[in-house]
Amino acid sequence: MAAKGRILIEEDRCKGCGLCIEPCPVDILALDESRTNKKGYTPLYVTDPEQCIACSFCAMMCPDNVITVERFKKA
Ligand code: SF4
Ligand code: SF4
Repeated sequence: MAAKGRILIEEDRCKGCGLCIEPCPVDILALDESRTNKKGYTPLYVTDPEQCIACSFCAMMCPDNVITVERFKKA
């Protein structure tokens, strides 16, 4: 399935709370345990960007508005 959108993560503002992960219907969000951001938190990353359906559930859940969703226009 081709991606319908993508998310932009303001990584250095992420506090690694994980609230955005569970609501993703295609299960492509995770915390990157291999690194930390400027605040010292484990940041969110997208495991498989091609699967994003631009539903915005993740962005709605984030208490700090770290995530912006871009929806691709239909060709
Ligand atoms: S916009 Fe929807 S599909 Fe895309 S990462 Fe967020 S919750 Fe998942
Ligand atoms: S909800 Fe926001 S602050 Fe929490 S892990 Fe997701 S992007 Fe980071």
